[in-house]
Amino acid sequence: MHLVMFGAPGSGKGIQCQFLWESRRLPHYSTGDMLRRHVAEGTSLGHVAQEIMSRGDLLPDGLMSDLVADAIAGAGAASGFVLDGFPRTVAQAETLDAVLATTGRRLDAVMNLKMPTYALVRRLVQRRVCARCGRVYNLALAPELSSCVDDSAALVRRPDDQPEAIRHRLDVYLRETAPLLTFYGRRGQVIKIDGSRPIDQVRERILRELDSLERSRATRRTPGQSEDE
Ligand code: AMP
Repeated sequence: MHLVMFGAPGSGKGIQCQFLWESRRLPHYSTGDMLRRHVAEGTSLGHVAQEIMSRGDLLPDGLMSDLVADAIAGAGAASGFVLDGFPRTVAQAETLDAVLATTGRRLDAVMNLKMPTYALVRRLVQRRVCARCGRVYNLALAPELSSCVDDSAALVRRPDDQPEAIRHRLDVYLRETAPLLTFYGRRGQVIKIDGSRPIDQVRERILRELDSLERSRATRRTPGQSEDE
């Protein structure tokens, strides 16, 4: 299964990808997490990325496409994956198609977590992350928490979750990323999900959609044909 978890910043893509790993062992690749690791490790890419990310702008398409192409070429992604934060532009989507085609694969679906803007802003303002492991928390759900339940490190606000950067990221999303819904919509690949529901309900809905995608793939296969054919 090759999926894109799609949605504006704050729509819950990361946590839903985490659930897909826990329940279906579907590996997920978050370009934002990859870049934050580069920043933390002080690599040359990290130096380039840091300022662009804290402003809420997008990194160049070529650079992001190379990063993702490397990740999904690995053995861990051979039987499927879910992408979080990629593609973010039509050019990135076209590169993704081309990279998948080299190994005879194609995208199965784009799960679009839809949410009204005021709810996205509320979530982003209340989001905190573990300074060490990056685990994500929401102050609305755990107001008394000040350290990570996994490693006790401090919870901090992401630099791009400052109010001005949030506004800018939402503008960038509308201008650069939302047009992808037309790109994938024309192919009938977009599955609309109400991302403002409680996260467990969103999770159940995604799992149901996944089951139905798997069923329709199985019925498209002719009897006796194996999954790899
Ligand atoms: P995220 O964690 O997905 O919200 O991404 C954080 C930031 O990383 C974004 O605001 C961009 O600056 C950068 N970034 C992540 N993915 C991409 C991408 N596919 N294209 C360009 N920039 C990206």
